Amino acid sequence: MKRINEIFYSIQGEGFFTGTAAVFVRFSGCNLNCDFCDTQHEEGEMMSKEDILAVIEPYPSKHLIFTGGEPGLFLDADFVRFFKNAGYFIQIETNGTRPVPQNIDWITCSPKENLLLNKANELKVVYTGQDLSVFENFNASYRYLQPCSMKNTKEVIRYIQSNTQWRLSVQLHKLLDIN
Ligand code: SF4
Repeated sequence: MKRINEIFYSIQGEGFFTGTAAVFVRFSGCNLNCDFCDTQHEEGEMMSKEDILAVIEPYPSKHLIFTGGEPGLFLDADFVRFFKNAGYFIQIETNGTRPVPQNIDWITCSPKENLLLNKANELKVVYTGQDLSVFENFNASYRYLQPCSMKNTKEVIRYIQSNTQWRLSVQLHKLLDIN
């Protein structure tokens, strides 16, 4: 049983799969304590993987995104395999402080502090003017920079124009005011 904060059906608003219909399963609980965190980690319902599948099965998309909280605290290969056997493409959105199961299809790493992972399919960083050279040796197929609450979009664009290994990610769901 896992404590699930919420399950919802929407479109991915960030990174490589922006615009893709997806089911989001949000775990409660994180090993970090960021000031800007918007997850209520104490809230949630204890659910088995069968409970979760029963909720998500009616949705047409087979793109399943485990997010949090920090899903790396709760996922193991058996749990992931259960949903893969049900036909899902599995994406994880992780802060990169925990190992993630090998059988995940797509790893999105959004580092905050204490980064453990050194590779992911995509790296997604909220830009506040920090030194990004710390990610030079991070192995990622795609590198996304996000404005901080859409307040420094021009600064982010200028940075990307000079550092072309990065791409812009704009939190489409917030721009469109959708869940
Ligand atoms: S890593 Fe993410 S989920 Fe964890 S405290 Fe920070 S913002 Fe919240």
